[in-house]
Amino acid sequence: MYLHGTSKINDQGHLEIGGVDATKLTQEFGTPLYVFDEALVRQRCREFVEAFQASGLKFQVAYASKAFCVMAMCRLAAEENMSLDVVSDGELYTALQAGFPADRIHFHGNNKTIEEIEMAIDAKIGCFVVDNFAELHTLNAIAGEKRQKVKVLFRVTPGVEAHTHEFISTGQTDSKFGFDLGNGSAFRALEEAKALPNVDILGVHSHIGSQIFEVDGFRMAAERVAAFAVHVRKELDLTFRVINLGGGFGIRYIEGHTPLPMATYVKAITDAIKENFGSNDYPLPEIWIEPGRSIVGDAGTTLYTIGSTKEIPGVRKYVAVDGGMSDNPRPALYDAQYEAMLANRATEQPEEVVSIAGKLCESGDMLIWDLNLPKVQTGDILAVSCTGAYNYAMASNYNRVRRPAVVFVKDGQADLVVKRETFDNVAGNDLIPERMKQASK
Ligand SMILES: *Cc1c(COP(=O)(O)O)cnc(C)c1O
Repeated sequence: MYLHGTSKINDQGHLEIGGVDATKLTQEFGTPLYVFDEALVRQRCREFVEAFQASGLKFQVAYASKAFCVMAMCRLAAEENMSLDVVSDGELYTALQAGFPADRIHFHGNNKTIEEIEMAIDAKIGCFVVDNFAELHTLNAIAGEKRQKVKVLFRVTPGVEAHTHEFISTGQTDSKFGFDLGNGSAFRALEEAKALPNVDILGVHSHIGSQIFEVDGFRMAAERVAAFAVHVRKELDLTFRVINLGGGFGIRYIEGHTPLPMATYVKAITDAIKENFGSNDYPLPEIWIEPGRSIVGDAGTTLYTIGSTKEIPGVRKYVAVDGGMSDNPRPALYDAQYEAMLANRATEQPEEVVSIAGKLCESGDMLIWDLNLPKVQTGDILAVSCTGAYNYAMASNYNRVRRPAVVFVKDGQADLVVKRETFDNVAGNDLIPERMKQASK
């Protein structure tokens, strides 16, 4: 397993993260356990921020909180001078509870409810990313009722395909998100918005996909957005002050994944903006981006306890852990691949090839196929790396399992940031109708 950030093998032959022995973490907090290398999260934030500072452009780096949205993470993002994307009232609530500055919060989503819009306007968030015509008019109406003017970006689909897994790509014309640049719907949205009194048009937003390892897609998106900006300026006399080029910067889950340094993505984006806007004599806009996975992904490790095994001679050996698709649905959803090691026997040589199964009642509940490990024993601790993004965020109570705890580790210290769920968290909202209670008497 590739060791990310501060992860290393210590003198006891154990995996250590943030200066804390992984086996100690499991003793203190139990398993499954999500462990975040806080220094690595902060480093990733700084890589983006510093790359933009070097560009000389005005910018905001908005952490896409959907990747991992808990109060401690929102607080960390605020400390690192990040902005924050939210896509629901729940994420907005979490950010506000954490004390995240409202004016640096951006609200996304293709179907924001009236309640969500009201909540966000009342909180005085920084910007709405408008996705469709209905939202535009609802937003204008609600803002009017509240005697406020709201800042908006328009999400456009620039028709750029990022090379990535089909199911998590959103840049093509056939997408549930945004206004199409090619078919004129984006232009029409700007035209309509210009006539609305309660929206302040900042500019446009494009997000071309996820887990992207090249800069070409971002460059092409910047080009198309710039051409659109020039067109809108000429036809509608509207000048964009902000261009948001979304997230999607890739990370290394497994060997063969070859992400670029974050500064390389940023430089490609800022250069493309300078070239394309500069050559059109257009005032350089502020550039916003929205990294999610690349902020938290490789900083997360999940620790499991190994339980049962099943060997099918000549076929394979299944090794089961005490979690699975309930804490990491990505292998089942996207065929996502992960690396892992035995955290308590980190220096031992691999002796067998096993497949890691979850404990949930689905044949598809597999975490890793064909993993080289030392001869595994019940009670060993399996560490799966790169689980920081879209793991806790997508966790469920399937089979009524309790969602795991989350700890931040840094400089030898471990802090619980999400408590392990209790049975009451799982069944506490259940109600038995009175008539059933009577019937059983
Ligand atoms: C999901 C998403 C992001 C973050 O994507 P990552 O791949 O996690 O960087 C950013 N912007 C928008 C609009 C998104 O939907």
